[in-house]
Amino acid sequence: MTTLDALHEAIDSLKTAGIETAVTDAEWLLEDVVSLLRHQLYLQNRPLTDKEIIRYRTSIKRRCNHEPIAYIIGSKTFLDWEFVVDTQVLIPRWETEVLVNEVCKHSCQGWGVGIEIGTGSGVIAISLAKILPHIKIYATDISPAAIKIARLNAERLGMSDRIVFIQGDMFSVLSGLGLEGSVDFIVSNPPYILSKEMKSLPQDVRDFEPKEALDGGEDGLDYYRKIISNAPNYLVPEGYLTFEIGLSQAKSVKELMQECFFNIQIINDLCQRERVVLGQVRRMCSLD
Ligand code: GLN
Repeated sequence: MTTLDALHEAIDSLKTAGIETAVTDAEWLLEDVVSLLRHQLYLQNRPLTDKEIIRYRTSIKRRCNHEPIAYIIGSKTFLDWEFVVDTQVLIPRWETEVLVNEVCKHSCQGWGVGIEIGTGSGVIAISLAKILPHIKIYATDISPAAIKIARLNAERLGMSDRIVFIQGDMFSVLSGLGLEGSVDFIVSNPPYILSKEMKSLPQDVRDFEPKEALDGGEDGLDYYRKIISNAPNYLVPEGYLTFEIGLSQAKSVKELMQECFFNIQIINDLCQRERVVLGQVRRMCSLD
């Protein structure tokens, strides 16, 4: 069996299983198994070893079951870096790159410390540490498994000494570190799906990604409320709070922020959907 034969067989199986992206998925998974670039799969058309055939068929079977590619190959590219992922963490989304870019746009030389709430695989904290070489980040997540993966990613990307990963519930594990009133920015891509919409998510997401990373409570805003009420205790006056948000949440999140934040901005993603909300904490709300 050559690479082309394997591709044809895989594309047939994926199409039968109702996978819409059958061709690109088949190519992607084969690239991973045989360590060739996409065009080489076609140009070299080399025979597969028995081991490669077994591995490829196993991958295709998992994909036919709607498991996301990132979990099958165990990694996902985000901005310029490759992150290790498994089913204990959300797969990094390109939309989240907008969030990272916005934090960077508002950063300044004077920035020293940031917080990320709900770090998952660590993509946001690690990308920010890469782009802003002068900052230190405290990143929390309630899931011990997520913290383990985030630490692994930070180590692989050489950012371990710049990020402190702490397992625990949101801000609770940050008290006692002397961070109150001294943090320049807080960033989060919290769970924001409405509980009642969880069961109508695409099968790839619903059956494989961690529910705790997705479910934002009855109106999807549970975590925004908690973060918005805690953030002022940590931020320096006029420090930034930046969120990723779900569809149609911009207005509600803005309203929640209005009491203690000013200069609130809503930023669209590349599909022109409202994706990021950010604001600066009012002096009267922050610990001076
Ligand atoms: N911060 C991680 C990400 O953006 C995880 C977010 C989450 O689990 N809700 O991918």
